Amino acid sequence: MTATIIDGKAFAASVRDKVAARVAEIKEQNGITPGLAVVLVGEDPASQVYVRSKGKMTVEVGMNSYEHKLDADTSEEDLLAIVEKLNNDPAVHGILVQLPLPDHLNSDLIINAIDPAKDVDGFHISNVGLLGTGQKSMVPCTPLGSLMMLRDHHGSLSGMNAVVLGRSNIVGKPMAQLLLGDSCTVTIAHSRTKDLADVVRRADIVVAAVGRPQMVPGDWIKPGATVIDVGINRIDAPEKGEGKTRLVGDVDYDSCAEVAGAITPVPGGVGPMTIACLLANTLTACCRANGLEEPE
Ligand code: NDP
Repeated sequence: MTATIIDGKAFAASVRDKVAARVAEIKEQNGITPGLAVVLVGEDPASQVYVRSKGKMTVEVGMNSYEHKLDADTSEEDLLAIVEKLNNDPAVHGILVQLPLPDHLNSDLIINAIDPAKDVDGFHISNVGLLGTGQKSMVPCTPLGSLMMLRDHHGSLSGMNAVVLGRSNIVGKPMAQLLLGDSCTVTIAHSRTKDLADVVRRADIVVAAVGRPQMVPGDWIKPGATVIDVGINRIDAPEKGEGKTRLVGDVDYDSCAEVAGAITPVPGGVGPMTIACLLANTLTACCRANGLEEPE
């Protein structure tokens, strides 16, 4: 069997097109331009790349992008003051503080200082609680993008066995909540899980978010299962030339694609959907703030 490739790049483009159409409508009919503020502290190279591409795509869908680049030694007090200013700025509908923050800053404190209504990453404790109790919230972008691809591929997920590999607050746990919300039977596996291969083999849906390059081999996958690979890992690629690298996921793509029914590639799977969902969340936040009909 060769798996269907779930094209996250194309799907993300269609999500962005819908966002752009609604942004244009809101601008014309209501005179409001949705705005996303991204705060970057320090010079982490991967974070810089993410922030640049978030800013570019924000502008491409017609929203305002506000970037705040701060020195690595910015104090907690100064960062909190910026968050407060953005909370009170009516032109800003979404606020994202790029993680990870430098060690001297308390991420929980900073994230929980963001107005939950503007918390487009969905990491504020209020949004976590709302999601966990099935109420309207801001949903974390990576799990939301993964869920959208699963729904698009399967229609209903009801009754399916889903295994989420990883229990982080930003991916694994919210992913499990979303799958539960769609009536999957959910198992969350992590580094202490016993007989991991057997656990994964029972899954109709596998979501891998462990941060370990190509960790899941094809013989862990139930034939026909759907594999969502969240991992983004840079590894050496001597075959491309000396000093070259390439991106791989948390599953071994080639062997998994032979067994799975459907699989997301890396790059071009979950990654593009994450940014598209960030834009969709910003639009949603703008609509809620202004009493406008929310996008689907
Ligand atoms: P974390 O490091 O926060 O969490 C990793 C999780 O994997 C932990 O729960 C850990 O278990 C578990 N784990 C680690 N090793 C094993 C193992 N050998 N067997 C089973 N479980 C294991 O990572 P994140 O959740 O932040 O990210 C996961 C991956 O997703 C990374 O590759 C990251 O780059 C990628 N990512 C991609 C995004 C995208 O846009 N596509 C966005 C965010 C992340 P334990 O809790 O026991 O330590």
